[in-house]
Amino acid sequence: MSRRDADIGSDNEVMVSGYSEDTIAAIASGMTASGIGIIRISGPEAFAVLKRVFRPKNPVDPMSFRTNTIHYGHIVDPKYSGAVIDECLVMVMRAPHTYTTEDTVEINSHGGPYVMQKILELVFKNGARPAEPGEFTKRAFLGGRIDLTEAEAVMDVIGAKSEDALKSSLMQLSGSVRDSIISLREKLIHELAYIEAALDDPEHMDLTGYPETLLSVLAPIEEKIRRLSATFGTGKLIREGILTVILGKPNVGKSSLLNALIGEDRAIVTEIEGTTRDVLEENVRLGGICLRIIDTAGIRNARDQIEKIGIERARNYAEKADLILAIFDSARPLDENDREILQLVKRHRAIIVLNKSDLTPVVNEAELRRELAPVFSDGEDIPVIAVSAAEQTGIERLEEQVRKLFFSGKLQFNEETVITNARHFSALKAAGESLVLVRKSIEDGLPEDFYSIDLMDAYRSLGEIIGEEIDDDLVDTIFSQFCMGK
Ligand code: GDP
Repeated sequence: MSRRDADIGSDNEVMVSGYSEDTIAAIASGMTASGIGIIRISGPEAFAVLKRVFRPKNPVDPMSFRTNTIHYGHIVDPKYSGAVIDECLVMVMRAPHTYTTEDTVEINSHGGPYVMQKILELVFKNGARPAEPGEFTKRAFLGGRIDLTEAEAVMDVIGAKSEDALKSSLMQLSGSVRDSIISLREKLIHELAYIEAALDDPEHMDLTGYPETLLSVLAPIEEKIRRLSATFGTGKLIREGILTVILGKPNVGKSSLLNALIGEDRAIVTEIEGTTRDVLEENVRLGGICLRIIDTAGIRNARDQIEKIGIERARNYAEKADLILAIFDSARPLDENDREILQLVKRHRAIIVLNKSDLTPVVNEAELRRELAPVFSDGEDIPVIAVSAAEQTGIERLEEQVRKLFFSGKLQFNEETVITNARHFSALKAAGESLVLVRKSIEDGLPEDFYSIDLMDAYRSLGEIIGEEIDDDLVDTIFSQFCMGK
């Protein structure tokens, strides 16, 4: 149990968050030159620190600033008789209704890395200490404002690479995962309490027939756990993006397609065969989905060493990829290199892209399908999409096809909670396994106190997801993955 209960302060005053003895600060905005920079301070001394370094235009004592107000003034160094460091706006928020649940001050300075750093150092000299990565959010968690799934969702919102990833993390941030888990746990604790009470008071509470009742209570819980776990495959793809490899012999238009998807000329397009030697990974937003595209060397009989490395990599990536986009040139007859690529496509989720649809066709879909027939002897259907990378046509159909392949045409999280986090997934799995043991014990006719242990394990595993049953080390590990200033 890592969330500490409210502490009683020395003067018997109940502290709201009970976590922080100290005050932390960090730059909350990016460390690149920008219009505004934000230095965030949180903790019991936040206002006192502000008072030392801030000279408001209206001579009001910062200690008496009302919550949720903004103040104009200057950041000054008290050591150097109030030398002005920057002009700024200061936002003040008082505990407990703040991001961290603590007194919080945000200094909006000019957004130059040097000036922000200077203000931050001044803040450190005047009573705050550097925040660790994720420490603001950790305080929100320890202060009881958010649970662990919501804290993790904060990180996912920041890291979201696509519309769908953003939507699913916002849903999680609003408590969708937490609510599902809490409701499952409530049902389990109810049964645990019942068993406990009956074992304590056998004269008044009879457990005859109870095991059957428990089985019927567990069935929908197990089903819900299964359903949640089953969303993880999709959830992972939404969160991390679909690892995609573009395969095709030289000059079919791999780089051009990548450029068309990226929407800018970042990959080098050239007419000399075999120049796409380096492996580039680009995050491409295709509609709401994120494709993590690896552009590899053309697949063909290797002519030199560098080319060979590229091809080996292409094969390796093809093995690892979630999706293969296999490109063929519709204006040139298929040759043995194309057929080699069709072989690679065989065992994977793939889309055949028939490029250069703006030119007079030499190869059409029917011919490709004929070629594919021996490869896919089991009659498996593989989508073929005609595009022109040069004229950027057919890209929407490509997107539709990706959706169809991975999300059955629609995204499931509109209707249900999607598990996107591997930690949640493995805890769900553990909970499911404990419930299987409960079922087995009941079926084997074992006594109640025997399987109540497994029931408790399931309850605990679910608790880990929301942060109720995890030790401080794990909490630290989770928050250390956050970015600085969050
Ligand atoms: P890669 O070797 O597979 O990466 O192929 P590139 O993207 O470098 O393209 C090879 C050549 O085909 C270049 O001259 C492109 O301009 C041209 N090309 C690529 N896509 C198209 C297309 O859709 N239509 C036409 N007409 N030319 C294309």
